[in-house]
Amino acid sequence: MTKRVVLIGHPVAHSLSGAMQQAAFDDQGVDATYELWDRAPLALVEAVAELRGDDFLGANITIPHKERIVPLVDRLTEDAHATGAVNTLTKEGKRLIGHNTDVPGFKVALDRLVGKQKMPRQAVVLGAGGGARAVVYGLITEGFQRVVVFNRHLHRAEGLVKHFGRSAAHMELKAMPWHESIIESELAKTKVLINATSIGLMADLTPVPGEIIPPDLLVLDLIYNRTRFLREAEAAGSTVLDGELMLLHQGAAAFTLWTGKPAPLELMQRKLEEARAGGVRSAEGEPTGEPERSGEEQPTGAGAAD
Ligand code: NDP
Repeated sequence: MTKRVVLIGHPVAHSLSGAMQQAAFDDQGVDATYELWDRAPLALVEAVAELRGDDFLGANITIPHKERIVPLVDRLTEDAHATGAVNTLTKEGKRLIGHNTDVPGFKVALDRLVGKQKMPRQAVVLGAGGGARAVVYGLITEGFQRVVVFNRHLHRAEGLVKHFGRSAAHMELKAMPWHESIIESELAKTKVLINATSIGLMADLTPVPGEIIPPDLLVLDLIYNRTRFLREAEAAGSTVLDGELMLLHQGAAAFTLWTGKPAPLELMQRKLEEARAGGVRSAEGEPTGEPERSGEEQPTGAGAAD
């Protein structure tokens, strides 16, 4: 029987995961299809129940469901439990196991960004959703000593800090209100800046203006495009990296969990690049990679990062 793997998100039309996962299944002789399921939050419980059927091998979970899905699974792995977020499901019979492969994916990206330098100890994280949880957990386990989380809705950042209370007991993990002047003063004290919001995903917007980004920061955007945030950070003198490497490695880890096989990384990376170059469409059906028009919101390319 051909097995099914689904990506559940809302929206998912922008996803590049399908291109790389289907190619990996075909290349490795895995008889499976990768489907995109656009499910609004109210339809999540029903979608998850369907996954218990024998034809499903597993799933990826993306924006905005990564935290919401936690109580719907039967068991969480250590990374999923620690983050309180799930991006990959596997099956044990009809039981659903929740994993978080964003954590190892983020660590590969962080290592690439830092390069040969000594691993820094201070970071500012913008955003407090499922992706931010993987980032913050990755920073904690990498030995960061001070991490400040800014979020539009402060209570969500506070919830994140509370969630990591015990694992962050040895270091300073703080939630702060989203005010440009406070962000600016924290940026002056940090080495690493990470955008884990979805600002810049569907439109050419940035979470923070380039003027407040000091030179010589290491800047990562989880979105897998050359976002305005990255362009302005680079112009300010920072070293920048987009979310493609994280996307690739979270996908590779998920592939191995579903199939028990090593992931064909080079092929998956090539398929990601092809999908981007081929103009995968955004959730609004806009073609991607269009030249900029001034004065209106723009799609910024292939869109979301998982
Ligand atoms: P969530 O929906 O869980 O969180 C979205 C975050 O973005 C929240 O912090 C939210 O703030 C913030 N946000 C959204 N819109 C605005 C806005 N207009 N103004 C201010 N803040 C805003 O999503 P995820 O955490 O799953 O994903 C976040 C981003 O990271 C997405 O772009 C996703 O594609 C990317 N990602 C990439 C990965 C990769 O492999 N490269 C892996 C995981 C995520 P609030 O809480 O206030 O609403």
